[in-house]
Amino acid sequence: MSAYHPLTNEESIVLARAIPGFFREGAELDCREIGDGNLNLVFHIRDTESGKSIIIKQALPYAKVVGESWPLSLDRARIEREALQIQHHLCSNLVPEVYSYDDEMAVTVMEDLSDFTIMRHALIEGKTFPHFADHIGAFIARTLFFTSDLAMDPRAKKEQVQRFINPDLCKITEDLIFDDPYKLSDNNNYPAVIEDEAEALRTDAALHLEVALLREKFLTRTEALLHGDLHTGSIFITEESTKVIDPEFAYYGPMGFDIGAVIANLLLNLAGQIGWKADEADRRRHQNWLLQTSLDVWSKFEAEFRKLWDEHAVDPLAHAPGYQDLYIQKVLQDAVGFAGAKMIRRIVGLSHVADIDTIPDETQRERAQRLALSVGKALILNCRKISSIAAIDDIVRTTA
Ligand code: ADP
Ligand code: MG
Ligand code: MG
Ligand code: MG
Repeated sequence: MSAYHPLTNEESIVLARAIPGFFREGAELDCREIGDGNLNLVFHIRDTESGKSIIIKQALPYAKVVGESWPLSLDRARIEREALQIQHHLCSNLVPEVYSYDDEMAVTVMEDLSDFTIMRHALIEGKTFPHFADHIGAFIARTLFFTSDLAMDPRAKKEQVQRFINPDLCKITEDLIFDDPYKLSDNNNYPAVIEDEAEALRTDAALHLEVALLREKFLTRTEALLHGDLHTGSIFITEESTKVIDPEFAYYGPMGFDIGAVIANLLLNLAGQIGWKADEADRRRHQNWLLQTSLDVWSKFEAEFRKLWDEHAVDPLAHAPGYQDLYIQKVLQDAVGFAGAKMIRRIVGLSHVADIDTIPDETQRERAQRLALSVGKALILNCRKISSIAAIDDIVRTTA
């Protein structure tokens, strides 16, 4: 391929044909662009006869935000591809396989997961997934443990930190999650009916202190290679199976951030159920599943992480009495705080979630927004005092 330019459907087909041994000689290939076109192009290419298919994802050099263009480094395609490869190596059944790539064209060719559903859509429809907590808990534990100093030689780990310096995408998180929601900003986006809530976020000194501490962790802690954007729109799911995609925000950061992302998105859906399930008993049952699953994500992560630590830690002081417990405690507190920050930004910040925004009834939507903000604030304000995941259960039950 030539120098970087956005691919056309025809060029994607040419690129797909060139993957050695994938499509039959002379196969008739059909191509559709299926991404939302904000940051990346996603092409679905299919052999019309055999049905065999692949995905080509290409990064665009900008993001379209509030009518303007926000320049974004194309190197994030390499970062996403390398993160996918590392994650696939560590969790082969939970991550799509990368078949080929072209860093100059910011292109990754990967396994097609079109048989799966994006989890956010399934949760809005009220579906439940009995294996989700086990799968995602294992994904988070394995990817974080094996990329951390607990399991890596410190020099190899520092080289890896350098490969995953991702300043443009980190800046999006730093601004949209840890800054804008707490001040007047053109990036904020919320309806006038919750102006009282938005103002409270701008003037709450205790909250600002906790968000400053969370922001500092995001800026400075190189604990492990994070996915960096682990919301339910980055998760493909079926009854049996779970796949994690879209790690373009990957960088070395605090472990609690990925766990907090999953918990936040389950709790945002829980708040959104106010507008989705009309029958009270049915809604309570479903909200209980979402809450229990949030707790199970943590419990599964913790059990797996402790097991990996006991069996595979190479850090010379890893087995110092008490170290593992304090480490887990820190990750728990961070996860709870980050979960809260992620909930708040999805209500008042630039980018929202369909679980709440597409609730048809305005009054119910507003109730869901207020509930998400109350839970988010309580998680942030209590995170440094928490010593057990049961605290999330208390916070949600006393707020909801
Ligand atoms: P973005 O970074 O632009 O959000 P994603 O990687 O999340 O891009 O992909 C956008 C959409 O493209 C997904 O929601 C999904 O519908 C589709 N998609 C992405 N990767 C795959 C895949 N491997 N298989 C099938 N569909 C995919
Ligand atoms: Mg998208
Ligand atoms: Mg995405
Ligand atoms: Mg993305």
